[in-house]
Amino acid sequence: MEINSLTGEFVHAPTERAFLQHKQDQTQSLLGFTLTFCTVFYLGFFATDLAALGWGHDTMALLGARIAVALTAGSCAWLAYRRVLSVPAARLAASLAEGVALACFMFIAVLRPAEFHWHAMSLAIMLVVVYLYIPNRLRYASTIAVVATIVFVVLAAEYSRMSSADKFTMGMLLVLVNTFGFLAARRFQYVSREEFRSWSVLKHAAERDHLTGCFNRRYLHDQLMGGRWRERAPDADSLSVVLCDIDRFKQINDTHGHGDGDMVLRGFARILQVAVRDGVDSVVRYGGEEFLVVLPGTDLAGALRLAERLRVTFAATEVVSTDGATRLRATASFGVASVDLAQFTFEHPLRHLISAADELMYRAKHNGRDRIESLQLAGPARKSGAVR
Ligand code: GH3
Ligand code: MG
Ligand code: MG
Repeated sequence: MEINSLTGEFVHAPTERAFLQHKQDQTQSLLGFTLTFCTVFYLGFFATDLAALGWGHDTMALLGARIAVALTAGSCAWLAYRRVLSVPAARLAASLAEGVALACFMFIAVLRPAEFHWHAMSLAIMLVVVYLYIPNRLRYASTIAVVATIVFVVLAAEYSRMSSADKFTMGMLLVLVNTFGFLAARRFQYVSREEFRSWSVLKHAAERDHLTGCFNRRYLHDQLMGGRWRERAPDADSLSVVLCDIDRFKQINDTHGHGDGDMVLRGFARILQVAVRDGVDSVVRYGGEEFLVVLPGTDLAGALRLAERLRVTFAATEVVSTDGATRLRATASFGVASVDLAQFTFEHPLRHLISAADELMYRAKHNGRDRIESLQLAGPARKSGAVR
């Protein structure tokens, strides 16, 4: 999870996308708040137009410009509060509001040419807001800020009545604001990604089994049993579980040592993880050499097909021992249980499925190992069957 020191973004694009998505709620509420704040201030500053120019044609033109900014920034704020925006849409809203506000600001500066020193101060404040407060991609914010600064310096050269020395000082101060604005914004981008990186490492350590990378029992109890399986497939009309246990695993440990036993465990876990749907199904290390696969939206027939594929693949897979000299083979026994969620009346289907799959797995052991036993739970009524 390397962070680019210039842009402050993750080098790995999917990690950057995951970070932005993780932050999106917070980004939207910050965008809504900051743009609302800017809208109110931008309109409030109409009082200074009146004070500088009195009632007249120019003042009305400036009122029009300020209303245009308020409408743009206000609509973007409303969208940020009321709608779920994608990351690019939120950035577009931020850039649009910034662009329109700065363009109108230039118009105001030209119509009030006697006050360019004040305008320079206003621009410096607006640049700080663009760099640090309106959430936007750093490269978009800095492009907008630099272009606005160049346009302002050109307008000052053309319209202001400042001395050359004042213009030079003003230009230097604006360069300073841009430099520190960029550095502070980059630091902020960097620090928030470092926080995300630490959070991800802790989350992974809290949810995953160190040896196999599968989810651990804590994740099963806190997340999946807490209803996370439903979030993973909200329209699911069925739910299945497969409980798998490696056959005579103790013998592998006793014959080849724990190191090779670990290799077999990792190999089995890999087969399970590759076979299931990413983001929908979950593979949990349920015990030492027992794994639970939770399959939302999969019916009994689908779960049986998967279990059969897992059984055949594992039995045919050779695991190379730690010293590379031996090829190990093992088999596993499977308990498969499924419910039709529309008919199942109990409150915690996953709990019922796991205890049924546990019984079925032991039945598979009892009936000779390297086989699958299955059951469709339908409320109190049960139909059972066996494969192989
Ligand atoms: P069965 O076919 O009835 O399942 O027999 P089994 O030998 O697989 O079952 P048993 O429960 O007797 O043995 C499981 C073994 O798994 C015992 C334990 O030492 C081993 N084990 C548990 N966790 C690990 C682990 O992380 N690494 C290794 N190498 N072995 C483990
Ligand atoms: Mg076993
Ligand atoms: Mg066991």
